[in-house]
Amino acid sequence: MSKVKEELRGAIKGRVLAPKDSGYEEARQVWNAMIDRRPAVIVQCVQADDVPPVIGFARKNRLELSIRGGGHNIGGNALCDNGVTIDFSRMRKVRVDAEKRRAYVEPGATLADLDEATQAHGLATPVGINSTTGIAGLTLGGGFGWLTRKYGMTIDNLVSVEMITADGKKIRASESDNGHLFWAIRGGGGNFGVVTQFEFQLFPIGPEIVAGLIVFPFNQAKQILTKYRQFVNSAPEELNVWVVLRKAPPLPFLPETVHGKEVVVLPVFYCGAVAKADKLIAPLRDFGTPLGEHIGAQPYVQWQKAFDPLLTPGARNYWKSHNFTELADGALNSIIEFAGKLPSPQCEIFIGLIAGAPNRIAVDSMAYGHRDARFVLNVHGRWDEAKDDQKCIKWAREFFNASAPYASAGAYVNFMTAEEGDRVAAAYGSNYGRLVEIKRRYDPENVFHLNQNIKP
Ligand SMILES: Cc1cc2nc3c(=O)[nH]c(=O)nc-3n(C[C@H](O)[C@H](O)[C@H](O)COP(=O)(O)OP(=O)(O)OC[C@H]3O[C@@H](n4cnc5c(N)ncnc54)[C@H](O)[C@@H]3O)c2cc1C
Repeated sequence: MSKVKEELRGAIKGRVLAPKDSGYEEARQVWNAMIDRRPAVIVQCVQADDVPPVIGFARKNRLELSIRGGGHNIGGNALCDNGVTIDFSRMRKVRVDAEKRRAYVEPGATLADLDEATQAHGLATPVGINSTTGIAGLTLGGGFGWLTRKYGMTIDNLVSVEMITADGKKIRASESDNGHLFWAIRGGGGNFGVVTQFEFQLFPIGPEIVAGLIVFPFNQAKQILTKYRQFVNSAPEELNVWVVLRKAPPLPFLPETVHGKEVVVLPVFYCGAVAKADKLIAPLRDFGTPLGEHIGAQPYVQWQKAFDPLLTPGARNYWKSHNFTELADGALNSIIEFAGKLPSPQCEIFIGLIAGAPNRIAVDSMAYGHRDARFVLNVHGRWDEAKDDQKCIKWAREFFNASAPYASAGAYVNFMTAEEGDRVAAAYGSNYGRLVEIKRRYDPENVFHLNQNIKP
């Protein structure tokens, strides 16, 4: 191994870590504690030019190659066993051109890195809801969050990327440069190359927005969900409301008797004029009899971190996901049935609302094609002990099957587990054929296969 390390060390500026090196154990941790992979080398790049020698090295030695952005993907493909991991955790810079409303982002940046840099100028672009998630994986799979109704998916606001292809070439992809590759990476994940810079368009947001939670008793779930699906049909796109069914955490604004009991939570977000928020949010309280609420004006960056304490790394996680165009009665019934038998205090079912801007984009305009999806449902199985694996995974799978008849076709690749390989073609639907063609052209040997793999 020392020979291997020396060869790589000589070729790059970053750090090369092998199993006995200090920092290796830390570097092989990802968000999902169920992942326990041991790369032969972890290469912590510090510049784009570090990437081609690493790809070349992996190919020459016929070693598997994985790419790590923020390390959040629950499938754990950021790491490999006995191969080479390109680790971007030391490349997290974000440069903002406020005048042009553009952000230039290194591939190890987290959502927090991007939000903090852009909000310094009162700007933002739609990303996810947990600030420690990596921009790279989130963007390449699609990306949605509180701003998505109004401004689209993260990929809808991607202007260009710089990337390194399987043959080590550095190229730019945008609508005008290598347009077919730009089409493919917007949803096609890490299948086509290693992205070393993302360029996003930005919008004026906040810095104060209005956001918070309204919590209802679980026995009112049916009426709340029924009123919710009606409400969102006419709610303005600046207003986003999700639904989370879970056991109540010990939130200070809830009576202690509710802590640990099943509840229905409406996380609410409004990015329009602060003075208009009250009137728009008021009808939500009439969905049932709230147990408590905590809503107010706050910095956007603060709200972007609001769920971090519930989503810390180190727990065991297993997810399943469906897209929905409508929330049919059958879907609501299965959500309520399975939320009534959560197998651990951390498990939850959430409905993310993405109705709005994403639905106005043509299905074939980029690889991500779920333009009829108005809701993304995630069954979030989360627990601490390995002994609970079977019980929690079974619950997630059974719920996934029970709600499947009401889902629209396709799936969000960023919420898929490593075991769902056979679902990849279905996930891309009518865009899959074109993705295979582009994969054949740019990565015929499938060097980049540790992902939701598009086979050449
Ligand atoms: C707690 C939590 C909350 C989440 N919330 C949201 C949400 O609100 N909205 C949403 O849309 N998604 C959300 N996700 C899903 C998230 O988008 C995916 O897990 C995403 O893959 C994470 O990206 P990452 O860079 O952190 O992951 P990693 O595990 O580092 O990377 C995932 C994959 O992306 C590819 N990849 C990474 N970097 C590069 C690169 N530079 N070049 C080429 N390929 C690369 C690789 O194939 C890699 O295996 C959430 C995930 C978690 C765990």
